[in-house]
Amino acid sequence: MNPTPGHPEIRVDVGAIRANARLLRAHAGVPLIAVVKADGYGHGMVESAHAALAGGADWLAVATPEEALALREAGLPGRILCWLTTPDTDYKACLRASLDVTAYSVAELDEIAEAAATLTGAGAGDGRARVQLKVDTGLSRGGAPRSEWAELFERARRGEREGSWRITGVWSHLACSDDPEHPANDAQEASFREAITAARAAGLTPEICHLANSAAAILRPSARFDAVRCGIALYGLDPAPGNTPDLGLRPAMTVRAPLVMVKDAAPGAGVSYGHLWRARRETTLGLVPLGYGDGIPRHASSADPATAAEVLVAGRRRPIRGRVCMDQFVVDLDGDRPPVGADAVLFGPGDDGEPTAQDWAEACGTINYEIVTRIGGRMSRTHHDGGDVGGPGPDGSTP
Ligand SMILES: *Cc1c(COP(=O)(O)O)cnc(C)c1O
Repeated sequence: MNPTPGHPEIRVDVGAIRANARLLRAHAGVPLIAVVKADGYGHGMVESAHAALAGGADWLAVATPEEALALREAGLPGRILCWLTTPDTDYKACLRASLDVTAYSVAELDEIAEAAATLTGAGAGDGRARVQLKVDTGLSRGGAPRSEWAELFERARRGEREGSWRITGVWSHLACSDDPEHPANDAQEASFREAITAARAAGLTPEICHLANSAAAILRPSARFDAVRCGIALYGLDPAPGNTPDLGLRPAMTVRAPLVMVKDAAPGAGVSYGHLWRARRETTLGLVPLGYGDGIPRHASSADPATAAEVLVAGRRRPIRGRVCMDQFVVDLDGDRPPVGADAVLFGPGDDGEPTAQDWAEACGTINYEIVTRIGGRMSRTHHDGGDVGGPGPDGSTP
């Protein structure tokens, strides 16, 4: 570990991501598609992608074509899936970069066919383009609605015959996988099986059919099909708090900042905007130079001590007091006087008693995904390799 930084910092342990990928792949028993969208859920897209591949991930996936192109430009090899195109998507660039693009509709396939036709300049494509088809099985977000499956599969098969592309996958996404008992899981899985049957009946032979995200990959063997798409669990966070068995996943992100001021507060002193909180007795306050401009949720503010988010300072958890501001927030040091520069750990793996991203999510009324993905702003972010859990890293480094 580096010495305590003097600047607010996000530290990402790529060794944890690598080890998590290895655990997930072994647990699921099928190829792992590592989801590194949204800057790797705040952990760094490129670094997370390298770590996931080093841990045995078989594919990479991101939401947008721009993210996928950035991965390719950064030198990431192998298969990269993306699924959220927009009316201005440059399919030619996607196909040139050997991405697996996803289509939801016949109109999109028509556009991809046009782009594919220019690949060889011969006006007919050369079948190198790779396209996956997304079907809506009940999330009612992206994906072809059931009423359009037949038409989509037929157009896809025609494109194969004409040499425009290969259909490399058929896939869908679950609405309620974090709630394993929810009836939508069975219904979506059954619907997905029907989609696969219909695709095969249309003459398609997809390389991979996939449905499961992290929660389903861990909790629902019947939803694993040919591959699982894991995001949040790759970063060591629990996709279904309260339902997930302990696989030994390790949170990869630690967020810390130095205290920049320590001062006394008299009884009755109102703290931060709106005086949401007042000191009821004499105490000491610490100033943390982070705020919602850095992705700290303003919802971490609470008048109720029982529900305020906490940070670890000088070996104890200290609750946030008063409103989180744009650039700073205040914690209650309860009479202690750590020096200016003392480390305030907002969240991390929890090894030293610091809160976790899950604790912050609960305090803020959100999910751990949002906590890690939104954090950033003016903070610096560094990557280090803490080694595999319980052992040295591949380069012999130790935690
Ligand atoms: C983000 C996303 C995933 C990853 O979900 P996790 O719950 O983070 O594992 C998988 N598939 C799709 C379509 C997604 O948008």
